[in-house]
Amino acid sequence: MKCDLCADSAVTFVRYNGSHLCSFHFREYFERRVKKEVRKEVSLYKGDTVGVAVSGGKDSMVTLHMMHQLFNEKNGIRVVCISIDEGIEGYRPPSLDIVRKYCEENGIEYHQRSFSELSGLTMDSIAPVSGENSPCTYCGVFRRKLMNDEARKVGAKYLATGHNLDDVAQSVMMNFVRGDVDRLARLGPHTKIRPGLIPRFYPLRMIPEKESLLYAMVSGIPFWDGECPYWSEALRNEYRDVVDSLEDRSPGTKYSIVSSYDKLKPLLSKDGEPRDVKFCECGEPCNGKRCKACEYEDQLLKKIE
Ligand code: SF4
Ligand code: ZN
Ligand code: ZN
Repeated sequence: MKCDLCADSAVTFVRYNGSHLCSFHFREYFERRVKKEVRKEVSLYKGDTVGVAVSGGKDSMVTLHMMHQLFNEKNGIRVVCISIDEGIEGYRPPSLDIVRKYCEENGIEYHQRSFSELSGLTMDSIAPVSGENSPCTYCGVFRRKLMNDEARKVGAKYLATGHNLDDVAQSVMMNFVRGDVDRLARLGPHTKIRPGLIPRFYPLRMIPEKESLLYAMVSGIPFWDGECPYWSEALRNEYRDVVDSLEDRSPGTKYSIVSSYDKLKPLLSKDGEPRDVKFCECGEPCNGKRCKACEYEDQLLKKIE
């Protein structure tokens, strides 16, 4: 099959708009949409710093690649790659090797934080005592804390993450079905700056997961595709199946879910309301006296001892 725009062979068929594209035109189409999304979500100027949260998986590596393409010495915007080592033997070290090497080769500043800074915890020590909570609950809370802390330290104005269209559509559906309107309202991108919390944005928010994988492959971007041994988000997997089967029957459904959410968000959002911001003794913003990460840290240390 030929590309619709030139004489080269097509590498993909974009079902939702019916076009066949070669590698060159697919990359062009992909990059155009990412740039559009970035322009919509953030305003960055000369002298600003943007953090990129990178695990080494395809989506975060593609995000890092795109951020480095868009922001660099030419426009005076500093890109900082931030990775977190959760302490998962055999899984995280090889993925961080890929990230480090990519940053070295492309002249990107690399920063790494590690769960072990939190009283020596690692996911390998947390998982056996995680009890009713899934290990991912702790992992997510600790990762967000370290990521936010590092982004704040490097002076990042925003933090980019690799969430793609599939991730966002699943989150919207999941919170909608559970009736969790508060969480629904808090889904990024964040439009208002809250003290101590670096606003996140999602350059791949309108990019289907399949296209992110294809882009990494045709662009020669290295990534790690191992599976975490503690992966247990069963509920999200159910929503993945539901959203995928809707997309199969009606191409474009994922996009419609996210666009509908965007139209509804101003009605849900408490983004604009002033809030009483409190800070935990560790420096993180929180709702109560202490942040969730500090509470979990204490609970886990008691269990591990
Ligand atoms: Fe952490 Fe869960 Fe992701 Fe593993 S699957 S890295 S435990 S959040
Ligand atoms: Zn072409
Ligand atoms: Zn704290």
